Amino acid sequence: MPVDPTQPYDESNVFAKILRGELPCKKVYEDDHALAFHDINPMAPVHILVIPKGPYVSWDDFSERASDAEIAGLVRAVGLVARDAGMVVQGYRLLSNVGKRSGQEVPHLHVHIFGGEPLGPMLAR
Ligand code: 5GP
Repeated sequence: MPVDPTQPYDESNVFAKILRGELPCKKVYEDDHALAFHDINPMAPVHILVIPKGPYVSWDDFSERASDAEIAGLVRAVGLVARDAGMVVQGYRLLSNVGKRSGQEVPHLHVHIFGGEPLGPMLAR
């Protein structure tokens, strides 16, 4: 069921459970503002998710309500994770689904980092 971005944050979503340590993840990076871990169902040789630690449904919610420190923290974490994965020279793709038309499934903001092979066209046609 795609996420309805107008709904309040749901504390029972899977990424909230990962943040609380109730579900495992293959952690790549963690700091005060962000957690990065491998996607459970990778769509590229490298498929990492970076999430803020705060309760934000989507990029829309985050960009409206998060503090400057939280926003800087997430943006810097995404760059650092991609850099540490050695993907800068060959390139990589960032994607964040927001709400129904995008097919967002997990109602906690996440930035997908894809890499490790040529990634093809930006959108399926
Ligand atoms: P969305 O469609 O919301 O942008 O992407 C959700 C992503 O979360 C999917 O790529 C899916 O494979 C991943 N995912 C869903 N549940 C889990 C989980 O429990 N652990 C991890 N590591 N990834 C998950």
